[in-house]
Amino acid sequence: MTATILDGKALAATLEAELAEEVADFVQNNGFEPALAAVLIGDDAASGIYVKNKRTACERVGIESQLHRLSSSTTEEELLELVARLNSDEAVSGILVQLPLPPQIREQKVLDAVHPLKDVDCFHPDNVGRLVQGRPRYIPCTPHGCLQILHRHGISVSGKHAVVVGRSEIVGKPLATLLAQKESHLGPDACNATVTVCHSRTRDLGAICRQADILIAAIGKPKFIKGEMVKPGAAVIDVGINRTPEGVVGDVDFAAAREIAGAITPVPRGVGPMTIAMLLSNTLAAARAQLA
Ligand code: NDP
Repeated sequence: MTATILDGKALAATLEAELAEEVADFVQNNGFEPALAAVLIGDDAASGIYVKNKRTACERVGIESQLHRLSSSTTEEELLELVARLNSDEAVSGILVQLPLPPQIREQKVLDAVHPLKDVDCFHPDNVGRLVQGRPRYIPCTPHGCLQILHRHGISVSGKHAVVVGRSEIVGKPLATLLAQKESHLGPDACNATVTVCHSRTRDLGAICRQADILIAAIGKPKFIKGEMVKPGAAVIDVGINRTPEGVVGDVDFAAAREIAGAITPVPRGVGPMTIAMLLSNTLAAARAQLA
């Protein structure tokens, strides 16, 4: 069997086109553009590329994008001051603090300081709590992108065994939460999965992955999921972005897995573009939430 390729880049373009219309309506009704303020600290090349891609995407859909660049020697206090300024700036709808931060700055402290209504990454404990309780304000971008890929390709997760490899706050944990929820804004087929979360201490990972109808890899290790870890016909979502001498590769051995899976996301052109589309969607939602 050769798997259907779940083209995240094409889907993101479709979602962006839908979003551009919604943004245009918002501007017409309210007389201002939603705005995303990106905060970039230091010279990390990958972070620079991510922020650039996010800003270009904003322009494509009519969202204003601001860039606040700080040097790698910025203190925590200076960064918190900037976040406080952006929190009280009515022209800013959403705030994105690009991670990772330099070692002198406590990440949690900064993420907790972003106003919950402007927290378009959904990292604030208020928003995480709401998500876990099944009444989300915003849906975290990468997990949302994964769910949208499945949903828009007609792949139901309801009643299926979903195995999430990785338990990070950004990807694995919120994605597992969303998959297991009773209700979803995408409908009953986008939730109600039976979820297993795996991590570095999991025993016999291969055997667990082989039980997965929906296998999600968010590990950060190139080609870690081998073909023999995939159940025939499974839907495989590869979140990994690993820069290697042969270029950017995912956490799944794509060439081997595509021969066994029923559907699979490529890397690049998979989850990455969807993450950005969902960030734009959250920025519009944030602008709406702050109208009241
Ligand atoms: P983290 O490093 O925060 O988490 C990695 C997870 O993988 C941890 O839970 C870790 O377990 C688990 N893990 C590590 N080694 C193993 C192993 N041998 N067996 C089983 N589990 C293991 O990474 P992120 O979640 O932030 O990112 C994961 C990947 O996704 C990265 O490649 C990242 O670049 C990519 N990414 C892609 C995005 C996109 O838009 N496409 C967005 C965000 C991330 P433990 O908890 O025990 O340490």
